[in-house]
Amino acid sequence: MSTGLNRLRGRTALITGGNTGIGRAVALAYADEGADVAIAWIDREPEALSLVAAIEARGRRALALRCDVTSEAQVVAAFAAVASAWGGVDIVVSNAGIQRPQPITEMSVEDWGRMMSVHLRGNFLVGREAARHMIPRGRGHIITVCSQLGYIGRENYTAYSTAKGGVIAFTRALAKELAPHGILVNGVSPGLVDTGFDPLSEEVKAAHAASLPLKRLGTPEDMTPAFVFLASDEARYYCGQLLHPNGGEIMP
Ligand code: NDP
Repeated sequence: MSTGLNRLRGRTALITGGNTGIGRAVALAYADEGADVAIAWIDREPEALSLVAAIEARGRRALALRCDVTSEAQVVAAFAAVASAWGGVDIVVSNAGIQRPQPITEMSVEDWGRMMSVHLRGNFLVGREAARHMIPRGRGHIITVCSQLGYIGRENYTAYSTAKGGVIAFTRALAKELAPHGILVNGVSPGLVDTGFDPLSEEVKAAHAASLPLKRLGTPEDMTPAFVFLASDEARYYCGQLLHPNGGEIMP
Protein backbone atom coordinates (compact mmCIF):
# COMPACT_ATOMS: atom_id res chain seq x y z
CA MET A 1 0.00 0.00 0.00
CA SER A 2 1.47 3.35 -1.06
CA THR A 3 1.83 5.95 1.70
CA GLY A 4 2.96 8.88 -0.47
CA LEU A 5 1.18 11.35 -2.72
CA ASN A 6 1.51 9.16 -5.83
CA ARG A 7 3.75 11.76 -7.46
CA LEU A 8 5.57 8.94 -9.33
CA ARG A 9 2.57 6.80 -10.09
CA GLY A 10 3.06 4.56 -13.12
CA ARG A 11 6.77 5.41 -13.42
CA THR A 12 9.68 2.99 -13.46
CA ALA A 13 12.95 3.77 -11.71
CA LEU A 14 16.43 2.26 -11.74
CA ILE A 15 18.66 3.12 -8.78
CA THR A 16 22.32 2.09 -8.85
CA GLY A 17 23.77 1.23 -5.45
CA GLY A 18 20.21 0.96 -4.30
CA ASN A 19 20.46 -1.76 -1.69
CA THR A 20 21.80 0.26 1.27
CA GLY A 21 22.12 3.77 2.65
CA ILE A 22 20.78 6.69 0.66
CA GLY A 23 19.84 4.54 -2.34
CA ARG A 24 17.72 2.25 -0.19
CA ALA A 25 15.81 5.18 1.34
CA VAL A 26 15.23 6.63 -2.14
CA ALA A 27 13.97 3.26 -3.41
CA LEU A 28 11.41 3.07 -0.60
CA ALA A 29 10.36 6.69 -1.08
CA TYR A 30 9.85 6.11 -4.81
CA ALA A 31 7.76 3.01 -4.09
CA ASP A 32 5.72 5.04 -1.59
CA GLU A 33 5.10 7.56 -4.39
CA GLY A 34 3.80 4.83 -6.72
CA ALA A 35 6.87 3.89 -8.78
CA ASP A 36 8.14 0.43 -9.65
CA VAL A 37 11.78 0.25 -8.60
CA ALA A 38 14.78 -1.69 -9.84
CA ILE A 39 17.94 -1.62 -7.77
CA ALA A 40 21.46 -2.45 -8.92
CA TRP A 41 24.09 -3.57 -6.48
CA ILE A 42 27.32 -5.59 -6.42
CA ASP A 43 28.07 -7.20 -3.04
CA ARG A 44 25.41 -7.07 -0.37
CA GLU A 45 22.74 -9.44 -1.69
CA PRO A 46 20.74 -9.93 1.56
CA GLU A 47 20.12 -6.17 1.72
CA ALA A 48 19.01 -6.19 -1.92
CA LEU A 49 16.58 -9.06 -1.38
CA SER A 50 15.08 -7.54 1.77
CA LEU A 51 14.58 -4.27 -0.10
CA VAL A 52 12.76 -6.06 -2.92
CA ALA A 53 10.42 -7.55 -0.33
CA ALA A 54 9.85 -4.12 1.24
CA ILE A 55 9.01 -2.54 -2.14
CA GLU A 56 6.63 -5.36 -3.02
CA ALA A 57 4.99 -5.02 0.41
CA ARG A 58 4.13 -1.46 -0.68
CA GLY A 59 2.25 -2.89 -3.66
CA ARG A 60 4.88 -1.98 -6.25
CA ARG A 61 6.99 -4.12 -8.56
CA ALA A 62 10.70 -4.55 -7.80
CA LEU A 63 13.81 -5.93 -9.49
CA ALA A 64 17.20 -6.63 -7.91
CA LEU A 65 19.99 -6.67 -10.47
CA ARG A 66 23.59 -7.48 -9.74
CA CYS A 67 25.43 -4.80 -11.70
CA ASP A 68 28.88 -3.31 -11.29
CA VAL A 69 28.56 0.21 -12.69
CA THR A 70 32.14 0.06 -13.97
CA SER A 71 31.21 -2.83 -16.30
CA GLU A 72 29.84 -1.73 -19.66
CA ALA A 73 28.24 -5.13 -20.28
CA GLN A 74 26.56 -5.23 -16.87
CA VAL A 75 25.18 -1.69 -17.15
CA VAL A 76 23.81 -2.41 -20.62
CA ALA A 77 22.25 -5.64 -19.32
CA ALA A 78 20.67 -3.92 -16.30
CA PHE A 79 18.90 -1.32 -18.46
CA ALA A 80 17.82 -4.03 -20.90
CA ALA A 81 16.37 -6.06 -18.03
CA VAL A 82 14.27 -3.14 -16.77
CA ALA A 83 13.10 -2.24 -20.29
CA SER A 84 12.20 -5.86 -20.98
CA ALA A 85 10.30 -6.28 -17.72
CA TRP A 86 8.52 -2.94 -17.55
CA GLY A 87 8.68 -1.43 -21.06
CA GLY A 88 11.13 1.37 -20.27
CA VAL A 89 13.02 3.38 -17.67
CA ASP A 90 11.51 6.73 -16.63
CA ILE A 91 13.83 7.65 -13.74
CA VAL A 92 17.50 6.80 -13.21
CA VAL A 93 19.31 7.58 -9.98
CA SER A 94 23.06 7.21 -10.45
CA ASN A 95 23.87 6.66 -6.80
CA ALA A 96 26.52 3.91 -6.64
CA GLY A 97 29.62 5.15 -4.86
CA ILE A 98 32.48 4.31 -2.55
CA GLN A 99 34.19 6.32 0.18
CA ARG A 100 37.73 5.31 1.09
CA PRO A 101 39.41 8.12 3.01
CA GLN A 102 43.20 7.91 3.15
CA PRO A 103 46.20 10.24 3.20
CA ILE A 104 47.49 10.91 -0.29
CA THR A 105 50.91 9.64 0.73
CA GLU A 106 49.38 6.18 1.31
CA MET A 107 47.17 6.11 -1.76
CA SER A 108 48.15 3.70 -4.49
CA VAL A 109 47.54 4.29 -8.18
CA GLU A 110 45.01 1.46 -7.96
CA ASP A 111 43.15 3.18 -5.07
CA TRP A 112 42.96 6.40 -7.08
CA GLY A 113 41.87 4.56 -10.22
CA ARG A 114 39.11 2.64 -8.43
CA MET A 115 37.63 5.87 -7.05
CA MET A 116 37.63 7.46 -10.51
CA SER A 117 36.25 4.32 -12.10
CA VAL A 118 33.23 3.86 -9.81
CA HIS A 119 32.25 7.52 -9.87
CA LEU A 120 33.32 8.79 -13.31
CA ARG A 121 33.27 5.72 -15.55
CA GLY A 122 30.19 4.56 -13.62
CA ASN A 123 28.29 7.80 -14.19
CA PHE A 124 29.35 7.82 -17.84
CA LEU A 125 28.13 4.27 -18.46
CA VAL A 126 24.88 4.76 -16.54
CA GLY A 127 24.24 8.19 -18.07
CA ARG A 128 24.97 6.93 -21.59
CA GLU A 129 22.66 3.96 -21.24
CA ALA A 130 19.95 6.10 -19.69
CA ALA A 131 20.20 8.49 -22.63
CA ARG A 132 20.04 5.65 -25.16
CA HIS A 133 16.85 4.35 -23.55
CA MET A 134 15.21 7.73 -22.90
CA ILE A 135 15.94 9.64 -26.12
CA PRO A 136 13.62 7.47 -28.27
CA ARG A 137 10.82 8.01 -25.70
CA GLY A 138 11.44 11.76 -25.55
CA ARG A 139 11.32 11.94 -21.77
CA GLY A 140 13.07 10.90 -18.59
CA HIS A 141 14.71 12.04 -15.38
CA ILE A 142 18.36 11.35 -14.56
CA ILE A 143 19.53 12.20 -11.05
CA THR A 144 23.19 12.01 -10.11
CA VAL A 145 24.47 11.80 -6.55
CA CYS A 146 27.17 14.36 -5.98
CA SER A 147 28.75 15.56 -2.72
CA GLN A 148 29.58 18.88 -1.16
CA LEU A 149 33.18 17.59 -1.07
CA GLY A 150 33.09 18.09 -4.84
CA TYR A 151 32.91 21.83 -4.03
CA ILE A 152 34.97 22.26 -0.88
CA GLY A 153 37.24 19.18 -0.72
CA ARG A 154 38.37 17.55 2.52
CA GLU A 155 41.68 16.27 3.84
CA ASN A 156 42.13 12.52 3.25
CA TYR A 157 39.36 12.68 0.64
CA THR A 158 41.39 13.92 -2.32
CA ALA A 159 40.32 11.13 -4.66
CA TYR A 160 36.66 11.21 -3.56
CA SER A 161 36.48 15.01 -3.74
CA THR A 162 38.05 15.00 -7.19
CA ALA A 163 35.68 12.31 -8.45
CA LYS A 164 32.60 14.09 -7.08
CA GLY A 165 33.76 17.37 -8.63
CA GLY A 166 33.76 15.46 -11.89
CA VAL A 167 30.26 14.15 -11.27
CA ILE A 168 29.04 17.72 -10.73
CA ALA A 169 30.54 18.80 -14.09
CA PHE A 170 29.13 15.68 -15.76
CA THR A 171 25.66 16.46 -14.43
CA ARG A 172 25.69 19.98 -15.86
CA ALA A 173 27.09 18.99 -19.26
CA LEU A 174 24.70 16.06 -19.64
CA ALA A 175 21.78 18.29 -18.62
CA LYS A 176 22.53 20.65 -21.49
CA GLU A 177 23.01 17.82 -23.97
CA LEU A 178 19.81 15.93 -23.11
CA ALA A 179 17.44 18.83 -22.43
CA PRO A 180 16.47 19.12 -26.13
CA HIS A 181 15.33 15.49 -25.93
CA GLY A 182 12.94 16.17 -23.06
CA ILE A 183 15.25 14.55 -20.51
CA LEU A 184 15.90 16.37 -17.25
CA VAL A 185 19.31 15.81 -15.64
CA ASN A 186 19.85 17.14 -12.13
CA GLY A 187 21.78 16.14 -9.03
CA VAL A 188 21.55 15.85 -5.28
CA SER A 189 24.59 16.91 -3.27
CA PRO A 190 24.22 15.60 0.30
CA GLY A 191 26.20 16.68 3.30
CA LEU A 192 27.45 14.02 5.70
CA VAL A 193 24.76 11.36 6.02
CA ASP A 194 24.77 8.82 8.82
CA THR A 195 23.98 5.62 6.91
CA GLY A 196 25.54 3.13 9.30
CA PHE A 197 27.91 2.08 6.51
CA ASP A 198 30.25 5.07 6.49
CA PRO A 199 33.89 4.81 7.59
CA LEU A 200 33.81 7.59 10.25
CA SER A 201 34.12 7.17 14.03
CA GLU A 202 31.33 8.26 16.39
CA GLU A 203 33.62 11.02 17.75
CA VAL A 204 34.22 12.46 14.30
CA LYS A 205 30.50 12.34 13.51
CA ALA A 206 29.55 14.05 16.78
CA ALA A 207 32.07 16.84 16.19
CA HIS A 208 30.84 17.32 12.65
CA ALA A 209 27.22 17.45 13.79
CA ALA A 210 28.07 20.12 16.38
CA SER A 211 29.68 22.25 13.66
CA LEU A 212 26.55 22.37 11.50
CA PRO A 213 23.94 25.14 11.66
CA LEU A 214 21.25 22.44 12.11
CA LYS A 215 23.39 20.63 14.77
CA ARG A 216 22.84 17.10 13.54
CA LEU A 217 23.94 14.78 10.76
CA GLY A 218 21.60 13.96 7.93
CA THR A 219 19.70 10.70 7.71
CA PRO A 220 18.99 8.87 4.46
CA GLU A 221 15.34 9.90 4.90
CA ASP A 222 16.41 13.56 5.04
CA MET A 223 17.70 13.09 1.48
CA THR A 224 14.61 11.54 -0.08
CA PRO A 225 12.42 14.65 -0.62
CA ALA A 226 15.04 16.07 -3.00
CA PHE A 227 15.14 12.82 -4.98
CA VAL A 228 11.34 12.56 -5.15
CA PHE A 229 10.99 16.15 -6.27
CA LEU A 230 13.66 15.87 -9.01
CA ALA A 231 12.00 12.70 -10.33
CA SER A 232 8.54 14.25 -10.42
CA ASP A 233 6.71 16.45 -12.92
CA GLU A 234 7.09 19.32 -10.45
CA ALA A 235 10.78 19.52 -11.44
CA ARG A 236 9.87 20.38 -15.05
CA TYR A 237 11.88 23.64 -15.04
CA TYR A 238 15.00 22.24 -13.32
CA CYS A 239 17.92 21.50 -15.64
CA GLY A 240 21.49 20.86 -14.47
CA GLN A 241 20.67 21.97 -10.92
CA LEU A 242 21.95 20.51 -7.67
CA LEU A 243 19.88 20.37 -4.49
CA HIS A 244 21.88 20.47 -1.26
CA PRO A 245 20.37 18.68 1.76
CA ASN A 246 23.34 19.32 4.05
CA GLY A 247 22.18 20.88 7.34
CA GLY A 248 23.54 24.23 6.20
CA GLU A 249 27.21 23.22 6.02
CA ILE A 250 27.75 24.88 2.66
CA MET A 251 25.43 27.26 0.82
CA PRO A 252 26.62 27.28 -2.79
P1 NDP B 1 26.43 3.00 0.92
O1 NDP B 1 27.79 2.38 1.11
O2 NDP B 1 25.38 2.74 1.91
O3 NDP B 1 25.90 2.62 -0.50
C1 NDP B 1 26.75 2.58 -1.60
C2 NDP B 1 26.07 1.73 -2.63
O4 NDP B 1 26.86 1.73 -3.83
C3 NDP B 1 25.92 0.28 -2.22
O5 NDP B 1 24.63 -0.11 -2.64
C4 NDP B 1 26.98 -0.45 -3.02
O6 NDP B 1 26.61 -1.78 -3.36
C5 NDP B 1 27.01 0.39 -4.27
N1 NDP B 1 28.20 0.25 -5.05
C6 NDP B 1 29.49 0.51 -4.71
N2 NDP B 1 30.28 0.28 -5.75
C7 NDP B 1 29.50 -0.13 -6.77
C8 NDP B 1 29.72 -0.53 -8.10
N3 NDP B 1 30.95 -0.55 -8.63
N4 NDP B 1 28.66 -0.89 -8.86
C9 NDP B 1 27.41 -0.88 -8.35
N5 NDP B 1 27.12 -0.52 -7.09
C10 NDP B 1 28.16 -0.16 -6.32
O7 NDP B 1 26.73 4.55 0.75
P2 NDP B 1 25.81 5.87 0.80
O8 NDP B 1 24.38 5.56 0.82
O9 NDP B 1 26.39 6.72 1.83
O10 NDP B 1 26.23 6.52 -0.60
C11 NDP B 1 25.37 6.60 -1.71
C12 NDP B 1 25.87 7.73 -2.59
O11 NDP B 1 25.80 8.96 -1.86
C13 NDP B 1 27.33 7.57 -3.03
O12 NDP B 1 27.47 8.03 -4.35
C14 NDP B 1 28.06 8.49 -2.06
O13 NDP B 1 29.28 8.94 -2.58
C15 NDP B 1 27.05 9.61 -1.93
N6 NDP B 1 27.20 10.47 -0.78
C16 NDP B 1 27.16 9.92 0.49
C17 NDP B 1 27.31 10.75 1.58
C18 NDP B 1 27.30 10.23 2.98
O14 NDP B 1 27.68 10.97 3.90
N7 NDP B 1 26.89 8.98 3.21
C19 NDP B 1 27.51 12.19 1.42
C20 NDP B 1 27.50 12.64 0.06
C21 NDP B 1 27.35 11.80 -0.98
P3 NDP B 1 26.97 -3.02 -2.38
O15 NDP B 1 26.25 -2.78 -1.09
O16 NDP B 1 26.45 -4.22 -3.08
O17 NDP B 1 28.45 -3.00 -2.20
